[in-house]
Amino acid sequence: MEVKVYKFGGASVKDAAGVRNLESIVRAAGGDLMVVVSAMGKTTNALERVVEFLDAGKEEQALDQWVDIIDYHVAVMKELGLQPGSDIRLQGEIPFDPQLPLDENYDQVVSLGEIMSTQIVAVYLLKQGLSVEWWNMPKLLRTDNTWREAKVDNETSAATIRAGWERANRPSIVVTQGFIGGTAEGKRTTLGREGSDYTAALLGNYLDAESVTIWKDVPGILNADPRLEPDTILIPSLRYQDAVELSYSGAQIIHPKTIRPLENKQIPLFVKPFGDPGAAGSKIAADGVGPIDVPVYIWRKNQLLITMRAKDFAFVLEESLSEIFEIIHRHRLKVALIQSSAVTISVCVDNTRFVPEAIEELKQHFNVTYNDHLSLLTIRGTTPEILERAKADRTIMLSQTTRRTARLVVKEDSVPQAK
Ligand code: ASP
Ligand code: MG
Repeated sequence: MEVKVYKFGGASVKDAAGVRNLESIVRAAGGDLMVVVSAMGKTTNALERVVEFLDAGKEEQALDQWVDIIDYHVAVMKELGLQPGSDIRLQGEIPFDPQLPLDENYDQVVSLGEIMSTQIVAVYLLKQGLSVEWWNMPKLLRTDNTWREAKVDNETSAATIRAGWERANRPSIVVTQGFIGGTAEGKRTTLGREGSDYTAALLGNYLDAESVTIWKDVPGILNADPRLEPDTILIPSLRYQDAVELSYSGAQIIHPKTIRPLENKQIPLFVKPFGDPGAAGSKIAADGVGPIDVPVYIWRKNQLLITMRAKDFAFVLEESLSEIFEIIHRHRLKVALIQSSAVTISVCVDNTRFVPEAIEELKQHFNVTYNDHLSLLTIRGTTPEILERAKADRTIMLSQTTRRTARLVVKEDSVPQAK
């Protein structure tokens, strides 16, 4: 039988009960399994704060935060009957070197969330009598050194990972990290936040897996965020192309880069609830049902609407467009929507740390204004009635509609807040 890849997100392993639940899901799988695990709970965010504090010279706060993270893992270990120090030795010092670029430090520190979670899961499963091996992705998944958004070298990685998998004495279960890889020089890298799904897909591709399953805290792929829309509908079957469109328009359900590696090898992707492992969940596959026949609501939060106006009234749209997008691309902004008129161009972008510098540069060429605290709502499969309802009671900054798709840039204070 071929290997299956299971990916467990942070919420599924946030405490000892989560790890025990993982064990029962893994046991039920039987057969060969590649288990990809994220950092426990909100550990990645906490590690980001450690880096921020150190960067700001706030060493005491950094250390407090670090100790909290270690304590949290130690508590989970103890509850699982593992001995900190002997079963697993946790990192003692924060691997932060002020001589190095911040983003390089970020990757060395933030990658530890996955190292810790996978060590705990692997040792726990081993102690429960399962045949398990822990794999260290920084040594196996080769990337370049684009810190925080490292690009995977698929050829090298596939060869290494396949060789490890085809070894005669390999146990039936491998536990490893999502989200992280390493350079040829042995430095840890990260693939971009929420990147564990992507790792699972890559491993599925390299190993020609029978299937990849993402275990989540929702019943499967829903047509809307249950925290934001009252009546959600489970979409049991999707085609790859529909899943790609959904994730690129900002659906939080799977990382956008996840689908391609699976589609290339026609490997089905399941999204299932870890709280109800027997449930069917959603299946994304070549023979999926499409197009999706229910309206789909996708929120993309923390958006910024940047409007550029010509400085000298000689606004030539074509020329300006290429100039604007060259700047936007170079500053790594992620554009969610574009709207132009004879004299202005507006872009809606993710409000990331790259934004201020990009705006500075755009200001050299254009009159620039912007609005922040915005969200972008995309409704696919909309009807005039659905659109009316969506617009009611919300402050709409910009709207773009085609026959079936509506996209609304909405002020955040007029959006219901997810808990
Ligand atoms: N732990 C990482 C993050 O929270 C990767 C992941 O969960 O997919 O971004
Ligand atoms: Mg996570």
